[in-house]
Amino acid sequence: MLRQVLLAASRSDRVERVVSTSPLTRDVVGRYVAGDIAAVVADLTRENLLVTVDHLGEEVGDRAQAEGAVREYLALLGLLPEGSDVSVKLTALGLRLSEQLALDNAATICEHAAERGITVTLDAEEHDTIGGLHSVHATLLKEHPSVGVVVQSYLPGALERCARLAEVEGARVRLCKGAYTAPGALTAPADIDRAYVRCLKVLMAGAGYPMVATHDPRLVEIASALAVLHGRDHSGFEFQMLYGVRPAEQQRLARLGAQMRVYVPYGSDWYPYLMRRLAERPRNLTFFLRSLAGR
Ligand code: FAD
Repeated sequence: MLRQVLLAASRSDRVERVVSTSPLTRDVVGRYVAGDIAAVVADLTRENLLVTVDHLGEEVGDRAQAEGAVREYLALLGLLPEGSDVSVKLTALGLRLSEQLALDNAATICEHAAERGITVTLDAEEHDTIGGLHSVHATLLKEHPSVGVVVQSYLPGALERCARLAEVEGARVRLCKGAYTAPGALTAPADIDRAYVRCLKVLMAGAGYPMVATHDPRLVEIASALAVLHGRDHSGFEFQMLYGVRPAEQQRLARLGAQMRVYVPYGSDWYPYLMRRLAERPRNLTFFLRSLAGR
């Protein structure tokens, strides 16, 4: 229930105005969103953590805004070390205006990223964009085999998508539980976790490159065991976690030799991202409300 309320608030301009204008919100934002992206990436890299960087922004109203988002990504690529990844939301590249526009913009980012030894991963957003996401991804894959895509285990059809992607040699697939609301999606945590494990089994057994995006200790253990079962060493898959969430666990996994990639968002359009993080964990909400109250 609280999750639904917070996810609804993530789409409300009125709530956004209230939250964004509180000076204390900055403290909470700083916990999950990078201020100086170059400095944060340098710190994480020093700790042997890999990064995928998201320039925050969703839903553009016109082509000029979508082109602005592309320019932000091209500038970002110049700041990142080789081996980094950028996470891209197709709605920020114009998916809701036209699939072709989003495809062209994503292809531009992929071309520049490849020149710098950086990969691109397409984030999964609201349920009504998932068809467009996979269609754009399938087209991009022909020219850019390293382009990755996210599958949300809570969605019906996630297992079938994983099965198709697992047939593609080297296909980079980030598996997550899903951060939005969607009609027909699983809602019970145990069901979502079971679906996650089913997808994980298919990806680990397949020909692709699984990217295990979760903070869930049980799923991290299951992923590690499945990797061993399928003869994947540390180079054959990676863990991914969000910036500011379980940093000690991120460092622990990196010290064990695992490839641990941190998803680092930055930029001024942080409101919907922050609300989704609060929706995931009521404990974070208490921290947030205390900050707003100035305590
Ligand atoms: P949860 O069910 O939220 O948590 C499970 C357990 O993990 C908890 O019980 C706790 O033990 C531990 N845990 C979780 N959070 C914390 C915390 N803050 N501190 C301590 N322990 C904690 N979603 C999308 O819909 N589309 C995307 O493209 C997308 N990309 C993502 C990329 C990455 C790298 C990651 C990590 C997540 C992404 N997500 C995305 C979000 C994802 O769908 C989930 O909403 C989010 O990761 C929370 O799910 P969880 O797997 O961590 O498990």
